Amino acid sequence: MGGTFDPVHIGHLACAEQAREAFGLDAVVFIPAGMPAFKLKRHVTSAEQRLRMCQLAVESNPAFDVSRIEIDRPGVTYTADTLRQLRAHYPKNVSLYFITGADAVCSILKWRESAAIADLADLIAVTRPGYVFTEEQRATIEQAGNFRIHLLETTGLAVSSSDLRARVAAGKSIRYLTMQRVLDYIHEHRLYVSGAHDKEAVQ
Ligand code: ATP
Ligand code: MG
Repeated sequence: MGGTFDPVHIGHLACAEQAREAFGLDAVVFIPAGMPAFKLKRHVTSAEQRLRMCQLAVESNPAFDVSRIEIDRPGVTYTADTLRQLRAHYPKNVSLYFITGADAVCSILKWRESAAIADLADLIAVTRPGYVFTEEQRATIEQAGNFRIHLLETTGLAVSSSDLRARVAAGKSIRYLTMQRVLDYIHEHRLYVSGAHDKEAVQ
């Protein structure tokens, strides 16, 4: 599962767990983006801090892991490069699934080297409140891009990292919206208090 994870929250975790269960996955690897291609114009928390929060969030689940491959790769992060790296790393009999929310999967044909992404992994598109991804859209993308997309109905959690950041900036509680350890880390490192991330986004 790729993402900016700025910060990781229960939406990511619950979807990953439900995808793991539904598809009998041996593991789910959270891969924080080094330099997210779609977020180049806004301030993003340092890669090491986003990675650390992911590690804290998955600690209690033996089937969850965190990888720093995108963080260690220089330049803008592209999913195709990541999947190629994972493919080379795991034995041939290991199948790769890329877990993505309904908001992200809609634009997959526009991602760099989308044909390579389609070759390297199946997609698991999880539901996300506020975003529609229909069977028709699925069929269109599958045909146009040669993708294999599995739709998975997950518990609809209308949680986003943007909302968590805005809450912290407004001095509001984010308790229960992410793991307690992540929350402690955010407070300890005074992340998101200035609201700088999202102020820059609208400039
Ligand atoms: P931001 O608001 O900063 O964009 P985000 O909450 O969307 O953050 P990302 O790191 O952008 O989180 O998302 C990583 C992946 O997780 C994407 O595929 C996204 O669609 C998915 N995702 C994030 N939140 C949810 C959620 N609440 N339900 C389902 N999928 C989600
Ligand atoms: Mg997002």
